[in-house]
Amino acid sequence: MKDKATPISEIVAKLPIGQSVVVKGWVRTFRNNQFIALTDGSTIRTLQVVVDFENTPMELLKKITTGAAIGAKGKIVESQGRGQDVELKAEEVVVYGEADPEKYPLQPKRHSLEFLREIAHLRFRTNTFGAVFRVRHQLSFAIHRFFHERGFYYLHTPIITSSDAEGAGEMFRVTTLDLKDLPKNEDGNIDFKQDFFERETNLTVSGQLEAELAALALGKVYTFGPTFRAENSNTSRHLAEFWMIEPEVAFNDLDDNMDLAEAMLQYVIKDALEHCADDLAFLSDRLLEEEKNKPQDQRSEMSLIERLQFVVNNTFERLTYTEAIDVLMNSKPNKKKKFSYLIEKWGADLQSEHERYLVEKHFKKPVILTDYPKEIKAFYMRVNDDDKTVRAMDILFPGIGEIVGGSQREERLEILEKRMQEMDIPTEEMYWFLDTRRFGSCPHAGYGLGFERLVQFVTGMGNIRDVIAFPRFPGSANF
Ligand code: ATP
Ligand code: MN
Repeated sequence: MKDKATPISEIVAKLPIGQSVVVKGWVRTFRNNQFIALTDGSTIRTLQVVVDFENTPMELLKKITTGAAIGAKGKIVESQGRGQDVELKAEEVVVYGEADPEKYPLQPKRHSLEFLREIAHLRFRTNTFGAVFRVRHQLSFAIHRFFHERGFYYLHTPIITSSDAEGAGEMFRVTTLDLKDLPKNEDGNIDFKQDFFERETNLTVSGQLEAELAALALGKVYTFGPTFRAENSNTSRHLAEFWMIEPEVAFNDLDDNMDLAEAMLQYVIKDALEHCADDLAFLSDRLLEEEKNKPQDQRSEMSLIERLQFVVNNTFERLTYTEAIDVLMNSKPNKKKKFSYLIEKWGADLQSEHERYLVEKHFKKPVILTDYPKEIKAFYMRVNDDDKTVRAMDILFPGIGEIVGGSQREERLEILEKRMQEMDIPTEEMYWFLDTRRFGSCPHAGYGLGFERLVQFVTGMGNIRDVIAFPRFPGSANF
C-alpha cells in the first residue's frame, strides 16, 4: 500500500467523516471476520476497521489475526457500534506481516507484568506499555523544554570515566584487556597501562562533577544521560542502567536549588497531565483495578490522576533532617517497633520505610529534607556552620521515596580538600575538579533526578523495570 498512513490519533481527534484515508498498524482483535480493532502506536485508542467480508478472499481473512501488521484503505464513517465515534469502512486490506496465532505470545487479555518482562521485545504491543512509553517520551521532552526555556545548556558528560570519586555506589568496569590472560606488573598486579585508556576506567555513575566544571563557566547546565550502578539492589526502585537529569547552576544556593527542583517536577507532571490525558486515564484505571487485590489499608487514598494533580497544586513540605528525625522518633511505627530499622538517634540513615512514612502518613505530600549529617552524605556537599550537617536535599515522593538527591556544593577549597582527605578521596587525582575551586570559585548547587523514578510516579507502575524499554538488573540484560 503506497499511500501515506494517517495516524489513528489524528483520526480520533478530527473525526474526518467522509474522507478517504489509509491506516497502517497492528491487529489487536478481529471479530466475526469483519471488525478489526487496529492500533498504530500513536494513541491508546484503537480504530475499528470494518472489512467487507463478502468481497474479501478467505485466504486474506485468515491472515488477519491478533498481532498481524496490516494496512487498510477506505472511508471514515460514523460508527454504528458502541464505543467509538467513527470507523473505517475498508475498501482494501493488505497484510504486511502475519502473526501465527498458535505461536504469538500476546492474547487480547490481561497478562501479568512479570510475564511481559520475559517478552520485553513484544510488550510494547500492549496497552499498558504503549501508554507508559508515550508518557515517558512526553516527560523527557518536557524536561528538555523546561531547562531550555530557562536558559540552561544541555551538556553531554562522558559515559566512560576514569574517576571513581562520585561515591555513588559500585561501578561497572570498562576494559579491552583479555580477562583470560591479564597482563601483570612486576609486583603481580594487573598492568592497566596496557589497557585501552592506559588506566582503569568505568561506566559513569553520575555526570555531576563534570557538570560543575561547565556550570562555573556557562552558568546554567543540565545533563540527561544514562548512568550505571552495579549495586546489587533487587528492589522495585533500582536499575543497573538508568537515566538521570542533573542540573547545575552557578550562584544558586540550597533554597534556589529546591525552588528549581520543585518547579521542574510540577512543570513536567502538569505537561503530562495536559498531553497524555488518554494514556493517564487508562493507567489510572489500571492502577485502581490492581489495587482491588490489595488489603484496604494499603490502597492509596487518591487515584493516579488525583495524585498527579495534587503534586502540581501543592507546595512541597520543606524541613531539616533533624526535624524529620524528631517526627520519626515520636511516630507510632517507631514506638510500636513496626519499622524494620528503628530510629534510635540523630545520625541514623533514613530507609525507604521512613521516607515513605513522612510523605504518605505524616505530611501527606511531597517532602524536601535538608541538612543531613555529613557522615551519611557525599564529600562535595557544603558544610554548615555547625560542622555537623551539610547542605543536602532529598525530595521524597509518595510510593517512590527518594526521587531527587542534590545539594549546595562546597565551594571553599580548604574545606573541600579537608573533607576529601577525611573520606579517603585522592585530591591529586582530582586536580581537575579542585581547579574550579582554585580559580574563580563561587557558590553553586545542583541535583540528580532519577528519570525512571519520575516515570514510575507519573504512570503509577509499581516496578521500575516496567518503565524502561529493556531493563538491566542483577542477573538480567536480555534483548
Ligand atoms: P537510593 O538511596 O534510592 O539508592 P541514591 O541516594 O543512591 O538513591 P543518588 O546518588 O542521590 O541516589 O542519585 C540521584 C537520583 O538517581 C536518586 O534520587 C534516584 O532518583 C536516582 N537513582 C539512584 N540510584 C538509582 C538506581 N539504581 N536506579 C534508578 N534510579 C536511581
Ligand atoms: Mn543508592
